Amino acid sequence: MKGFVKIFTYGCQMNDLDTQKMYSMLYEAGWHPTEDLDQADIIFLNTCSVRQKPYEKVLSNLGRLKYYKERKPNLILGVTGCVAQQEGKDIIEKLPFVDIVLGTHQLHKLPEMIQKILASRAPVAETRFEECIPLMDVIPAKRFLDPAHRAYINIMQGCNNYCSYCIVPYVRGKEISRNYKDVLNEAKTLADMGAKEIFLLGQNVNSYSGGITFADLLKRINDVEGVERIRFTTSHPKDMSDELIGCFANLEKLCNNLHLPFQAGSDRVLEAMNRGYTQADYLRLIEKLRKAQPDMAFSADVMVGFPTETESDFMDTMHLIEQVRFDVLFSFKYSPRPGTRAALIPDDVTKQEKERRLAILQTRQRQITIENNRMRVGKIFDVMVDGISKRSKDAVFGRTTHSVIVNFKGPQDLIGKTVKVKIERANPNSLTGVQDGL
Ligand code: SF4
Repeated sequence: MKGFVKIFTYGCQMNDLDTQKMYSMLYEAGWHPTEDLDQADIIFLNTCSVRQKPYEKVLSNLGRLKYYKERKPNLILGVTGCVAQQEGKDIIEKLPFVDIVLGTHQLHKLPEMIQKILASRAPVAETRFEECIPLMDVIPAKRFLDPAHRAYINIMQGCNNYCSYCIVPYVRGKEISRNYKDVLNEAKTLADMGAKEIFLLGQNVNSYSGGITFADLLKRINDVEGVERIRFTTSHPKDMSDELIGCFANLEKLCNNLHLPFQAGSDRVLEAMNRGYTQADYLRLIEKLRKAQPDMAFSADVMVGFPTETESDFMDTMHLIEQVRFDVLFSFKYSPRPGTRAALIPDDVTKQEKERRLAILQTRQRQITIENNRMRVGKIFDVMVDGISKRSKDAVFGRTTHSVIVNFKGPQDLIGKTVKVKIERANPNSLTGVQDGL
């Protein structure tokens, strides 16, 4: 063993997966994970800059880590991911105690970069975009799958959509899809390792173009022995083909929930965001999906206070929420991201107004979520058990195929299994039930 490593992760599931892969590559090179910063010989911040908050958090955390570097001068401190991509070697110029800056296409070089630093102590920054992203092909070792029965597969990266508020195309690059044969091999390997749920990831997952359509990829993964559930995120409404919608009717392993960000309900705002659909288009999609799979559950991202958003535009957003009745909504106040087109438009909705609209939206969404949950009381669902409940050692929790969390009394050895649970109570963000037949 060479020493210990700690990686902090910010942002999305894609970043969580990259972190699993980074730990896995470093473990193979002799570096073991630790949670103890005093013990760590290497500390990385794997960053996201999609929202302003995580970006600010990264900068303040780097300042905090300087203390560890002063106490242990040989500590290797690095920044990876979106903020690294965006800021590049400026990070090292601004914060000379940082040793490594690796952009989103360069993460596979991590073990090699650490060797370089150990040999020369000269800081390195690599942020070139490449034609392929080798990290996507790294399969994390079983020990880094958490929970062991759920595995994430990165099938594509980047985005060509250039929504006017979003930094992703600039920090993740253009869309690059992995060949479907590699994805299928990975799904089989992960299933052999014990993964029962396969979660396909990509910034724009349903525009996948790795030799077959995304719908065909789902069909082939549906045939992989050992896989019981398939999920994917994040989808763009404009890429929801009829063939893909049909998968929700025809593929028995494809879970009946979909994360489909809509961002705004006003056609004028949607156009300013460059989203490529109207409210009516979005609602038509939801209708088609519900026709294909009547028990479909939806989640989405939405923002309030995009520049020029009026009260009437905001009411259009509220109308869409009433129509769809999402299970979960990730809602945010708009904040300009430097480098995007929207950042050039005056941010003219006041902070107080954004807060007011967000509070109205979140209050209504909380009601809808619990109303949706109440509709599930008395029904029996298949629940894949994820872990021990935080509230009681005698209880476990898992997810329905809709991705709703269910808590129920049961032993630890149910983890990783799927059991039938009868729902007895609806909670604000979860359900409580009893194992059916007990
Ligand atoms: S689809 Fe739009 S919001 Fe999503 S990653 Fe691409 S540019 Fe960003």
